[in-house]
Amino acid sequence: MSSRRLAQMQAVSEIPGPVIWLTACVHGDEIGGIVIIQEIFKRLKKMHLLKGSLYAFPLMNPISFETATRRISISEEDLNRSFPGDKEGTLAERIADKIFTSILETKPVLVLDLHNDWTQSMPYTLIDPYPGLKHKDAYTLAKNFSHKFGFVVINEQEDLADSSELKRTLSGSLLFHNIPALTLELSGAYVVEELNVEAGVKAIWGFLASLGMVKSVQNKNSNVFRLPKFLKGRIFRYEHLSASSSGIVRFLAKPGDIVKKNQPVARVYNVFGKIQETLKAKHQAVVLGHADYSVA
Ligand SMILES: [Zn+2]
Repeated sequence: MSSRRLAQMQAVSEIPGPVIWLTACVHGDEIGGIVIIQEIFKRLKKMHLLKGSLYAFPLMNPISFETATRRISISEEDLNRSFPGDKEGTLAERIADKIFTSILETKPVLVLDLHNDWTQSMPYTLIDPYPGLKHKDAYTLAKNFSHKFGFVVINEQEDLADSSELKRTLSGSLLFHNIPALTLELSGAYVVEELNVEAGVKAIWGFLASLGMVKSVQNKNSNVFRLPKFLKGRIFRYEHLSASSSGIVRFLAKPGDIVKKNQPVARVYNVFGKIQETLKAKHQAVVLGHADYSVA
């Protein structure tokens, strides 16, 4: 028998205002978000919260974190497919229940769930599929907040909209409980990428400042991600490209590139270096990232 504690952080102003939650590491290998939350709270020690409350679960999945795996290895569960959870349920459902009830009690204006996806990918804000008329208000609020982070905004794949799986994610489940929620995807898992930590802190701090919860700060570091102007204010559709032949993939387009329709974005080679396939962009698009491995 072993036990883990769920770390929680909070900054509560005496002046009433919006309640915001930051959550991270629901997938145990996605470590960058923990550091972003630490940095936000470090800054709050010097520059106090002006109003409202900021809460955080920096490490939602301590068991997966220990093994640096996406899923909980002992129960083979994805914590982010276990919400809203169940007090009497499986291991993941019990953790999910703890997280979910704590969040619900505070009636937040927005829950921001921090994730990591592919190495060197472009940071982006992800909107869950439309949860239906009954939950329209929470969805609309989340959508309106989505542009405030300064990242490219993406709609979650439409074919997932009907999937009951998405109701089981933290953000999806929150929407179904009428709580606005968004996901930030901030580049690769496993390793803390300092540039993306800075980008995440800048984005979240900017968002809190837009609500009047903190004083805005000028970011002196010019290396931090800046969204190209023509991507601002738009919402993009998520699409994957996959190879139909097997071999070694060489990527021609890099994260952040804007590609034209039919522009070659990757090539698949056989072991002798002969081209097997050229993958082309299906539409004009912005490249968010590519797979973490070059084997097709
Ligand atoms: Zn994740």
